[in-house]
Amino acid sequence: MNIRVIVIGFQSRFFGVCDAASVTERNVVSMQMLLNQDIINKCVCHKCPVQNQSECVHTQMAELKNSLKETPLDPHKIPKAYCVNGKSLCKGIDHSKPCICGSCDVYAKYHLSEGEPGGFYCFEGKSV
Ligand code: SF4
Ligand code: SF4
Repeated sequence: MNIRVIVIGFQSRFFGVCDAASVTERNVVSMQMLLNQDIINKCVCHKCPVQNQSECVHTQMAELKNSLKETPLDPHKIPKAYCVNGKSLCKGIDHSKPCICGSCDVYAKYHLSEGEPGGFYCFEGKSV
């Protein structure tokens, strides 16, 4: 399968508000976050109770193989990697259930606990 890459979209905004001395390790790592096959493979959102009752998410999951073949990728068709893609547009996301991002290798690798928000990216938006 081809790997297509979307550069996360906040790099220029970030440099617009911070000087170089204030760039932390976490900021540098987050700027390097790319939507790629590795992140999609490691993402555990498909097991998460927050979204696994949503019909819309089920449909997106069933179509995921085809959605990943599209060029460019449409992040809103991919029910995973919300820490990079941002919020889900699906209804049926249940905010009262626990987010399981903390069990994900991507979460540890990119120090996402140090970013904002600290999880629930599917309805809080991507990590910055
Ligand atoms: S941190 Fe959460 S949203 Fe990001 S890849 Fe892991 S499970 Fe998915
Ligand atoms: S971002 Fe967190 S809350 Fe949302 S589906 Fe993924 S693991 Fe669950």
